[in-house]
Amino acid sequence: MADEKKYVLAIDQGTTSSRAIVFDHSGQIVETGQLEHEQIFPKAGWVEHDPLEIWKNVREVVGLALTRANLTYHDIAAVGITNQRETTVVWDKTTGEPVYNAIVWQDTRTDKIVNELGGSEGQDKYKAKVGLPLATYFSGPKVKWILDNVEGARERAEAGDLLFGNTDSWVVWNMTGGKDGGVHVTDVTNASRTMLMDLATLSWDEGIAKDMGIPLSMLPEIRSSSEVYGEGRQGGMVPGIPIAGILGDQQAATFGQACFEVGMAKNTYGTGNFMLLNTGTEPVPSKNGLLTTVAYKIGDAPAVYALEGSIAVTGSLVQWLRDNIGIISNAAEIEDLAKTVDDNGGAYFVPAFSGLFAPYWKSDARGALVGLTRYVNKGHIARAVLEATAFQTREVNDAMTADSGVALTELKVDGGMIANETLMQFQADILGVDVVRPKVAETTALGAAYAAGIAVGFWQGEQDVIDNWAEDKRWTPSMDEGDRERTYRLWKKAVTRTFDWVD
Ligand code: ADP
Repeated sequence: MADEKKYVLAIDQGTTSSRAIVFDHSGQIVETGQLEHEQIFPKAGWVEHDPLEIWKNVREVVGLALTRANLTYHDIAAVGITNQRETTVVWDKTTGEPVYNAIVWQDTRTDKIVNELGGSEGQDKYKAKVGLPLATYFSGPKVKWILDNVEGARERAEAGDLLFGNTDSWVVWNMTGGKDGGVHVTDVTNASRTMLMDLATLSWDEGIAKDMGIPLSMLPEIRSSSEVYGEGRQGGMVPGIPIAGILGDQQAATFGQACFEVGMAKNTYGTGNFMLLNTGTEPVPSKNGLLTTVAYKIGDAPAVYALEGSIAVTGSLVQWLRDNIGIISNAAEIEDLAKTVDDNGGAYFVPAFSGLFAPYWKSDARGALVGLTRYVNKGHIARAVLEATAFQTREVNDAMTADSGVALTELKVDGGMIANETLMQFQADILGVDVVRPKVAETTALGAAYAAGIAVGFWQGEQDVIDNWAEDKRWTPSMDEGDRERTYRLWKKAVTRTFDWVD
């Protein structure tokens, strides 16, 4: 059949860049387009993106990927979207103009708001309902900040003129027509990161929205992760093509890594690190500083939940070393620098730049480099930077074992940092379990592609994902147990040095 559609397109709207990836039926990458967008830092602790730049980049990368693959939209069976979660866009539905820049998940400007919301009940006020502690990370308080601080925004929101969305909603609304009839939707996984969704009912919680002063009319409709939400608008980049999958980036990676059974976990090493453990169709509350979140929901099937350990700063510490300190000129160079020494020389770097996320949830922590002596050189610091990622992952893994009662047997990994073999070996050493890299490491985009492809019958279901998953490389622990526990103990001590920093 000449016009048979053989491909699925995934759009990955990430923290540092937007990507479009064309996948074939075997789950292999055909072509990619990618563009970085500006990271805007107006003040210490503030991180913003320009939503219009993001939307422009999304359009361009789709064009790039299709052109490079020598395809047109006619060849595409469905489009899936995956996105940086929590990052908050508020826009005017009649003009399509954002009322403020996107407030990024790493941004800590809402620390006062979250303290006030907690009041005498504290950080866990909404946790039983939404699975999350009150923290600057999540969307709800960011929406409140915009409504409180942008002139006229609250009145316009109350009049029904403003819409809120994470970047999935922003992209889908624009793709499906924008101010001329765009659909305003999100999926259960993104909604589970707003602090506004009841995990049990998968619907907006009116009481919490009221506490935050957020009119319900601003909120997108919550849908499953795999169904047809709408079609690409006429005259747009994929006219008439079904937009059929939405998953937050970490949930998409969990899906792309085929973690479909209870007890399966993946860890993504990107700007931050995010480890998710499938806990099945009932939400499991955490007693050890993890988040309870929705992993995915395929059409009418029951939602599947996960425990998540979110770490704010991992790969972005490597970027910081490159951009703010300048001792490396690109991310890959950190490995060469780290290899100039045998160990960290006693140095421990705790990158609490956005406070500490899991398992501590301390908004008022700030970064620390400790254990310094005259002996420490830039090689040791490079190693301490890489080790910070592995130690933080160990802390999250310990919390998962404590919450679930099940010890991991191996860890599936993905994300930009897994190119770093020194880090992967150290990770296996510090965890004491094998670390496994899949052949298709772009699991985030892959997961979104699968969600969209399953919705339109391009793939039959989860079994196709399992059949297509293949191992590329495995790192096995080789560190002596005494050394492992000694260095981990020092790391934990270093973490305590970052607490209570902000006045
Ligand atoms: P995201 O999707 O969060 O934007 P990616 O998965 O693309 O991130 O990963 C990019 C991150 O990985 C960057 O923060 C970068 O500093 C880091 N990174 C990329 N290559 C390496 C490397 N070889 N060693 C260490 N870190 C790396």
